[in-house]
Amino acid sequence: MTTRRRSARRFAALALTSVVLVMASSGILRAQKDPPEPAQGKPAPKLVVRPAGAISSREVDEAGMRSVIEQLVACGTRNSLSSWTDPKRGVGCGRDRIVARLNEIAKNSAGRLQVTIDKFEASGTRTKNKPARMENVYGILPGADPQLAKTVFIVSGHFDSRASDVMDPNLDSPGADDDASGVAVSLECARLLSRMSPGTGGYRATLLFAAVSGEEQYLYGAERMLSWAQQQGYTVGGMLDNDIVGADPAPGAPHRIRLFSGGGEQDDADSPSRELARAIEEIDGREAIRLVFALDRVERGGDHEPFYLAGLPAVRFTEPLEDYRHQHQTPRTEDGVEYGDQVKYLNLEFAGNVARANAEPLRQLALAPAVPTGVKLGGGVTPDAKIIWNAEEDSQRAGFEILWRETTEPRWQVFQFVTSARETALKGVSTDNHFFAVRSVGKNGTRSIAVAASARRIPLSAGSVQPAK
Ligand SMILES: [Zn+2]
Repeated sequence: MTTRRRSARRFAALALTSVVLVMASSGILRAQKDPPEPAQGKPAPKLVVRPAGAISSREVDEAGMRSVIEQLVACGTRNSLSSWTDPKRGVGCGRDRIVARLNEIAKNSAGRLQVTIDKFEASGTRTKNKPARMENVYGILPGADPQLAKTVFIVSGHFDSRASDVMDPNLDSPGADDDASGVAVSLECARLLSRMSPGTGGYRATLLFAAVSGEEQYLYGAERMLSWAQQQGYTVGGMLDNDIVGADPAPGAPHRIRLFSGGGEQDDADSPSRELARAIEEIDGREAIRLVFALDRVERGGDHEPFYLAGLPAVRFTEPLEDYRHQHQTPRTEDGVEYGDQVKYLNLEFAGNVARANAEPLRQLALAPAVPTGVKLGGGVTPDAKIIWNAEEDSQRAGFEILWRETTEPRWQVFQFVTSARETALKGVSTDNHFFAVRSVGKNGTRSIAVAASARRIPLSAGSVQPAK
């Protein structure tokens, strides 16, 4: 035996030992003692291949993103209570820069991208309880499929900024990371997705590239955007909030992007927001996305929240590890420590990754069939789980994937692919040991976000209990 073959053998033995060790320690061996479900083995589902033409990081214009951020910072402050009319300083200067960039992008979209300013008023403690003028900027790429054109996928960043005192519109507040970076991501998505023609037909659903104000005064711009979308007759298919997505100073950068999602109140059927987060991770890959199963960071909030609270799919992207010296701080040096949210702390390679991690899921979701509706789990107290759902006719849909996962597993697996059934019995699968969901699959390989199957639950208690007399 040659030395090479001997060492190959030794390596194989070593590898086998470590596989056994890993299996034993991860509980896989123990799990095998559970009764198999279904008893005859799971059907091997036919899997439609994901669509080609994924946006690559090479296509992302980091220099263009940097220029957007620098232009916004050059407005001095973008506090929502600062001037909306001064072209050189204040939040109105920020709006002007965003409108100009979107108009430039619209020129290369063959006239498809429409730029709109949405004016509104908001009042609360952070406007001194007086109505304050605010504006959002939207770039709208209308869906080409009449069946889905009223479904909108939104990517958003907020262009207002704040200094240490949120009520002082005169202090410098560069807001490079919070949140010119998120605005740059939203505008870069507009550029990437409006210039390219997916096949001949365009996107099925509508895409909305937003830059909102009033976030620091209390999420007013996002709240306004939600009611604007509803007034326009849109159903929100997904909302991707980008807030503080520009810095990644820890060694080894670029790191993964954190993606926050609220889980909802039902423990057997996660919220649409959690399902949107899973869909994004599946499209972008685990090496790009760090799922965080929480609505937001502790004691912080963001523009995805009004959407989440309305039961809509909404998630938040945020950089890996925040530096609080560079957020919500009036620029200054104290005891040799520099405070302030400046461009020099940003990592545009990381921010470019965030843009790609938004754009590719938006591309696929806007090309996907509609989500199934009325997804229910039936078959309780019987040997076979039953999955029941509805969906409109759609000539571009290949079928549906029935998904399942162990209740302790974070991610779905495909149990079965079905072409048209509205009720499918999973033979020999208990209703009680897994969670279930359904998603639509396009002939083009796209998937809708999953819809968790909710089960009818009997009340925990009826009647009353009294101490004996
Ligand atoms: Zn922010």
